[in-house]
Amino acid sequence: MSAESCVFCKIVAGTLPADIILDTEDLLVIKDINPQAPIHYLILPKKHIETLLDLNPMDTLLASELLMITQRLANKAGIKSFRLVANNGKEANQRVPHLHLHFVAGSKMTGF
Ligand code: 5GP
Ligand code: ZN
Repeated sequence: MSAESCVFCKIVAGTLPADIILDTEDLLVIKDINPQAPIHYLILPKKHIETLLDLNPMDTLLASELLMITQRLANKAGIKSFRLVANNGKEANQRVPHLHLHFVAGSKMTGF
């Protein structure tokens, strides 16, 4: 998928609305439109990268930012427990081909 037709690129560009939780130089955190838990955010890089396998060594800082921003999200939400999920690739049910982490919290989780 090209960046032009990508829903998350449209949200980053401001042409598609979203509830924005955090907006940094490199990342956007938005509420998932179809939340699976009381807190369900999507952490996404502003630049169009399809999957984790498309990251290159130049993205090392970005990759660490994707994890480090969870501290700000947890602080903001006043929580210490959360789940991070990356559906990476079609077989893993990645429906939006723009790299993102699901940040899920607010209810007792089982499994995994
Ligand atoms: P995936 O299956 O790719 O890991 O998850 C994509 C997620 O994006 C889904 O949980 C879905 O609800 C969410 N999503 C899809 N389209 C939109 C949208 O236009 N806005 C927002 N905020 N979330 C979306
Ligand atoms: Zn995109």
